[in-house]
Amino acid sequence: ISINDIYERKTRLSYYLYREARSVMPYGVSSNYRYWEPYPIYLVKGKGSRVWDVDGNEYIDFNMGFGVLEVGHSHPRIVEEVRRAVEDSTILGFEYEKSVELAKIICNRYNVDMVRFSSTGTEATMHAIRIARAYTKRKKIIKFEGHYHGSHDQLLINVNPMRLESRVPTSPGIPEETLSNTLVADWNDYEGFERLVRVHGNDVAAVIMEPVAMNMGLIPADLDFLKGVFDLARDYGFLVIFDEVKTGGKFYSGASGYYGLKPDLIILAKAIAGGLPLSVVAGRRKVMSVIGPEKVAHGGTFNANPLSVKASIFTLTELLTQNNMYYAYRLNSLLSKGYEDIADDLDIDLSVSMWGTSGTIYFAEKVPKNYKEFVRIDQKPWYVYFLNMLAHGIIPMADYDEQWTISIQHTEEDITRHLEVAQMVLKKLKE
Ligand code: PLP
Repeated sequence: ISINDIYERKTRLSYYLYREARSVMPYGVSSNYRYWEPYPIYLVKGKGSRVWDVDGNEYIDFNMGFGVLEVGHSHPRIVEEVRRAVEDSTILGFEYEKSVELAKIICNRYNVDMVRFSSTGTEATMHAIRIARAYTKRKKIIKFEGHYHGSHDQLLINVNPMRLESRVPTSPGIPEETLSNTLVADWNDYEGFERLVRVHGNDVAAVIMEPVAMNMGLIPADLDFLKGVFDLARDYGFLVIFDEVKTGGKFYSGASGYYGLKPDLIILAKAIAGGLPLSVVAGRRKVMSVIGPEKVAHGGTFNANPLSVKASIFTLTELLTQNNMYYAYRLNSLLSKGYEDIADDLDIDLSVSMWGTSGTIYFAEKVPKNYKEFVRIDQKPWYVYFLNMLAHGIIPMADYDEQWTISIQHTEEDITRHLEVAQMVLKKLKE
């Protein structure tokens, strides 16, 4: 029997629900990234490192809400905190007392001077480029190929292999004019970046990047490359923006702390509120000071709502502590090393990349350096691996361009089980 047969047998109720879902939601999902062939599974609940689907299958989850759940599912202390917060209103309309405390916590932890809250990563990156344009009075933004900054129009280019060479928007429905001020550079290629800057540098408002690129697996920046980018930004007068939507929760003080660099703006989201929606654009005082009534627009009904704020204060002060983060880094090393050992043992072309609490595998001899190398990898084996892992109770990650997240609630036994299943699946795949 084929893997699809096994998958379909185990996930019959998901399949029925999927059929129903398709009649009321395009592809039966609320986000394109939750769809896969032949159909996705539908989940019911999560606890610690586990999730359960409608068929009653239990999975050890390593997707963890696409990197949101650094604290794990339904952490009992978060549950308690949110339960108490609900009793004092879910939204107050005017500014919430505790938002000031949270702002200070973030300023200390991430080495920024001022913050503004919103709910999703998409909103915060959108605001960041508006702030940069207003501050510099320039229009152009440089982004890197394969970096994802959310689903708003202006940065949605060159993040889809199908549309890589054509410099057209990643999605239909985005007018080409919208992207006329968006320039695209190669990741980790200083010479290419410098060439682009020599031509356009005086019109550039900002360069935005995922300092550890996590929408093409996991490709960290070379420190020298980053330093070169910072120097050029200073020389030409444009800002550096770190999109730390993913990285901000995977290393104690984010990628800026890891690299020891201070970008002009950073964006945080995903993990910072322990599973609740909260995002942040933050940075240098003089840059953030362009925001205000009659100045740069920044707003949002749900910004800094009590539930997210209270969950975030608790997450950043009590749960994602240095010690707990070290615990997760260590488990991450075990998992990454385990995959390397399997690759050696089975003598297969499989490479491993890791950073902080995350890692991923590529079905290739070497970890790719940039997006062009990444899209050259044949992803067929990945899909077979993915369905097999699911069929054996492991969600290894959400897609071949994603990565696993080790939460503070994962255990060494979870890692051991993951590796046992991976060993079995990869061995079968080799045959
Ligand atoms: N930036 C990065 C680096 C991301 O990975 C994502 C989402 O995965 C976003 C921005 C968008 O965040 P959200 O989905 O919360 O809008």
